[in-house]
Amino acid sequence: MDNKHIYDVIIVGGGPCGLAAGIEAQKAGLSHLILDMGSLTESIRQYPRRMRFFSTAENIEIGGLPFPISGVKAGRDEALQYYRKAAAYYHLNFKLFQKVETVTKADDVFTVTTATGEQFFASKVIMATGYFTRPRWLGIPGEEQAHVSHYYDEPFKYSFTNVVIIGASNSAVEAALELYRHDVTITVVHRGDDFRSTVKYWLIPDVKNRVKEGKIKTMFDSVVTEIGTDTVTVNNLKTGEETSLPADFVLVLTGYIPDADLLRRCGIELDPVTQVPVYNKETFETTVPGLYVCGTVMAGIYTEKVFIENGREHAQAIIDHIMGREIHQVKELIQRI
Ligand SMILES: Cc1cc2nc3c(=O)[nH]c(=O)nc-3n(C[C@H](O)[C@H](O)[C@H](O)COP(=O)(O)OP(=O)(O)OC[C@H]3O[C@@H](n4cnc5c(N)ncnc54)[C@H](O)[C@@H]3O)c2cc1C
Repeated sequence: MDNKHIYDVIIVGGGPCGLAAGIEAQKAGLSHLILDMGSLTESIRQYPRRMRFFSTAENIEIGGLPFPISGVKAGRDEALQYYRKAAAYYHLNFKLFQKVETVTKADDVFTVTTATGEQFFASKVIMATGYFTRPRWLGIPGEEQAHVSHYYDEPFKYSFTNVVIIGASNSAVEAALELYRHDVTITVVHRGDDFRSTVKYWLIPDVKNRVKEGKIKTMFDSVVTEIGTDTVTVNNLKTGEETSLPADFVLVLTGYIPDADLLRRCGIELDPVTQVPVYNKETFETTVPGLYVCGTVMAGIYTEKVFIENGREHAQAIIDHIMGREIHQVKELIQRI
């Protein structure tokens, strides 16, 4: 126990905001370790293969490194390349495929324990675990089957099949449009009466015109109540009518939410309703001294409020606080669109 190595900072999560924290730690001369349960930038790796960021490339840069691309907005692969290069450029120290289960503190030293029981020690810990590992499950019968997914990757798997998409947000609309263009019969089921108002404004005419043409079918004011092996049962919330739809695949694209259980296990207090952690708005320190939240993990159910553009800035404020320097002021949270 006496010869254990104690890092100055351990960062849990190697997404853009966790990497930004690693870079700031490195710049400040702090020893650091980044632990991620998946690959580097695992969340972005899980994004739809052909996705394009809505942010312009310079708005998702980290560590002051330019992100040159031939267009204006980067795609998934370009972002993966960029963050990998940034990690290498700053000689970040990480261990991948290490799922953190708990963070505990005793005698001013944090112990970070992984799912395999391995332990790492640090004076400070930054939780940058994002939200993408935790889909919002509907909790309906049949949701756990193999043909049901909470992530959309690429269209070719689905050509010439019936796909039901649950949800009406950006992810749902982008998947519906791409799938429709790959000979997939699409039905979008959503409990609201229209696509969400947060859908990227340039997608709206495209999807609405496809709906008007009958190329994409929608069932609004409706919920899926059960998923069978090749059908779903849909209940219209207004009329009470029940319909059975053919469904070779079901994409449940109803969003993601930070892992509140993990944060609680680490001793972080959360608002019971919004699941927003209690933290200092300037320093991002939680009620556990020396334990910080960074990036989207701090958003609770409001995941649309913290993204790379503003979440990347938390890193500097946190490291300023650790170093006892004047604290970088993070911009007000803004809406994406
Ligand atoms: C399709 C899509 C498009 C988007 N486009 C944009 C955009 O244009 N601009 C923008 O600013 N934002 C965009 N976002 C949002 C943005 O990607 C996220 O807000 C961003 O990834 C948050 O970064 P983060 O580092 O906080 O979390 P993440 O990138 O989610 O990283 C968290 C990391 O923590 C790891 N992790 C989680 N739990 C554990 C654990 N227990 N132990 C160890 N590791 C763990 C995960 O594997 C992951 O690598 C988009 C999101 C989606 C889904």
